[in-house]
Amino acid sequence: MLFRECAEVFEKLESISKRLEMTSILADFFRKVPSNEIQPLIYMIQGILSPPFLSVELGLGERFAISAIASSAGYPIKEVEKNFAKSGDLGKTAESLLEKKKQLSLSSRKLDLIYLYNSLVKIAKTSGAGSQELKIKLLTELLNNSTPLESRFIIRFVIGELRLGVGDPTILDALSVLKAGDKSLREELDRAYNICADLGLVAKIFMESSEQIKHFKVKPFNPLIPALAERLSNSEEIINKIGKCAVENKFDGLRLQCHKKGELVEIYSRKLEKMTHMFPDLVKEIKSLKQDEIIFEGEALAFNKKQDRYFSFQETIRRRRKHGIEESSKEFPLNLFVFDIFYIDGRDLTKESYTQRRKYLEQIFPTTLLKLSENKIVSTAEEMEILFQNAIKENLEGIMAKDLNSPYTAGKRKFAWIKLKKSYGKSVDTIDAVIVGYYLGKGSRAKFKFGGVLTAIHNPDSGKFETIANIGSGFTEEEMNNFEKILNKIKSKKPSKNLIFKTEPDFWVKPKYVVEIAFDEITQSPTHTCGMENDKGYALRFPRIVKLREDRSENEVTTTKEIIDMYWLQFKNKK
Ligand code: AMP
Repeated sequence: MLFRECAEVFEKLESISKRLEMTSILADFFRKVPSNEIQPLIYMIQGILSPPFLSVELGLGERFAISAIASSAGYPIKEVEKNFAKSGDLGKTAESLLEKKKQLSLSSRKLDLIYLYNSLVKIAKTSGAGSQELKIKLLTELLNNSTPLESRFIIRFVIGELRLGVGDPTILDALSVLKAGDKSLREELDRAYNICADLGLVAKIFMESSEQIKHFKVKPFNPLIPALAERLSNSEEIINKIGKCAVENKFDGLRLQCHKKGELVEIYSRKLEKMTHMFPDLVKEIKSLKQDEIIFEGEALAFNKKQDRYFSFQETIRRRRKHGIEESSKEFPLNLFVFDIFYIDGRDLTKESYTQRRKYLEQIFPTTLLKLSENKIVSTAEEMEILFQNAIKENLEGIMAKDLNSPYTAGKRKFAWIKLKKSYGKSVDTIDAVIVGYYLGKGSRAKFKFGGVLTAIHNPDSGKFETIANIGSGFTEEEMNNFEKILNKIKSKKPSKNLIFKTEPDFWVKPKYVVEIAFDEITQSPTHTCGMENDKGYALRFPRIVKLREDRSENEVTTTKEIIDMYWLQFKNKK
């Protein structure tokens, strides 16, 4: 397939915002795509070259893309920068400058989708001395062979700004519509995607045979998208919702997913990035498990021998950075509190109940470093409350209540797991939001060039970010310096195309850094666009940053629906 056809569809997609319309355009388009080309096409629509766990990343900054545009279009770099400063969109800059050149020469050949994808992978994999020059050369060649419209999308893709406004749910809808004419195959597609985290692979198999998707199974080295927990405001509500259930401590550590097949072990983060090299001690112990193939997950925490307590998530990360992996493994050994298991020697366990999976867990763990996340079965709110209070006394975040009959709900927030956390003001939980802009310091803070951040949550239905809070207080001097340093590097001239906003910060930044925010209450306000209806959105009262959540990506922040649910939960709490 020619990339020209893809670029035309991309142009159509970015001009509309209705999900139904996008779905039908995509379904019509997928129908025309040869089944061996659907996998790379899906990745390209997602703005990636591979699923996160294979980490094929382009790593090309704006500067390199500008050099390639300059040499392909025959303009000085300064001229490209000037155009970019005006347009604020490097893709559009490439398009307009190449347009002028193409009017003079008709030399370009037709760019094939697979050729383009393979060339981008080649750019990503080029490393070592002189690699940056080679990357620019390869990108220049691609631009030489592309039409102006194609170059708009190639440039946006390489700098990580493709953002067609098409989220994974829309792609899954389109695949279902393609075969069934409606969304009736969504559930099967969702499950397959959630247990392998590879939408390109799911689409490829689905195009070959939708029957195969029904029987799709978990397999080692395809990490599952982690299950998420719902929230309720107290023990009584939890018991009313799921009845007799298991209660585990909620550890504030690093969520890790461990895969083993024979001698090979991989460990994935919550964002499904390979972290194996960070945990040599855990790898050794996983290798020694007697199961040939196994997949399980847990929460890792470093142990402070001197103080006989576990470090928190933040301390665990800080220690490991400061002391190095080997050193800190000795001084602050990591323990993984294993809380779920998905697969043993060819058997997919994700459809089995919590009680069943727990039996397998208890047969295998604990080992020395791989502890078992202890659980207690409770039937009443009073029993649960005692466990919750004990957890708070032990300085833990709270508890997780787990439905005894529920399968593992990969990628979904269901009442299979319900978290109950220590309270902040009236709120039942903290939220995670992405920083989309920042403010300059005023008065005594002017010297820090940082006065606070504008944050946003995510609306998966529209694929947009919506603002929820300006956070201007509670920063230490060190934090102000740190935030200024990391945000300054990702400043952008315009707000993200996917952001809906009513208030403007001094600087926009690419949505990248996720922060956990505590607050007193969710209120309605005309300033923020979260869940906005009739000019009123949801906003946080007295927001303050708890920590930077390096384990989360920008698409994994709290959703609009969760904020609205939390808004209503706080009235129950008041009672
Ligand atoms: P939150 O990050 O507040 O949405 O809470 C969900 C997170 O709690 C999960 O992603 C896990 O990293 C963490 N967690 C800690 N302890 C447990 C546990 N016993 N069971 C499941 N998740 C846990």
